[in-house]
Amino acid sequence: MQHTSVDGIVVRVRDMGDHDRYLSVLTAERGRITLLSKGSRSMRGQQMGVSQLYTYGNFEYYRRGDFNILKSGTPIQPFYALSTDIDRLNLAAYLCEVAIEVTDEGEPADQLLRLLLNALYAISRDLYPQAIVKGVFELRAASLSGYAPDLLGCCHCGMQAGDPLYLDVMNGALLCSACLQKKGGVGRRGGDYDEIREAELLCPLTPAALAAVRYAVEAPMERLFSFELKEKEDLELFSKTAQSYLLSHLGRGFDSLNFYHAMRGDTP
Ligand SMILES: [Zn+2]
Repeated sequence: MQHTSVDGIVVRVRDMGDHDRYLSVLTAERGRITLLSKGSRSMRGQQMGVSQLYTYGNFEYYRRGDFNILKSGTPIQPFYALSTDIDRLNLAAYLCEVAIEVTDEGEPADQLLRLLLNALYAISRDLYPQAIVKGVFELRAASLSGYAPDLLGCCHCGMQAGDPLYLDVMNGALLCSACLQKKGGVGRRGGDYDEIREAELLCPLTPAALAAVRYAVEAPMERLFSFELKEKEDLELFSKTAQSYLLSHLGRGFDSLNFYHAMRGDTP
């Protein structure tokens, strides 16, 4: 029987009966794959070590009928430290849910896998503030999914700096205050539902917050999170924009994200 060997990270587990477990594993070459891990829920199961959520490892499996059966696995990076803190764990759960949403079975996902591994590593070691890791992940995941925003300058007049510039979330483009006034987008209230909704999807960005958004979209993978936002307001605008941008383009929310915010006592 032919065996396949891949490296990947377990992004979802679903228990099956008393002993078995389905693993969703994100890989570079094959995108997301589903493996049936037999006996992995019993303490003596040989595959228990590699059948845990957030474990990055090597998986050997074979095909039987409609199923990929896990034959053996070796953990490479188990990310144990994620489970020692509730915020880390909840954030990891959200990032994995997003990874599932933006990948397909069989579609290569090299960049998304690297993004997820870098983010989980940073979170597990507290290398950067969670708001930075989360925001960069969100903007980058949106970009990798084909929704990269055009951040060069105002999409009408080309102005590259302004305090603030607005990110028009649905169009993925920047607008300066003057062009926005001309469009009648700022300060207008009492319009119909669509107009109000449109206004809500304009995210103001201070120069520092805009620089951070640009960095998140363009930075090389190995230096993704290496920037600071010293002012609280800048960090908040960056976080809010990143989250709105991803969720709007995916057209959905995530329970894990709501849970992350609720446990931290974040204001919605
Ligand atoms: Zn303009």
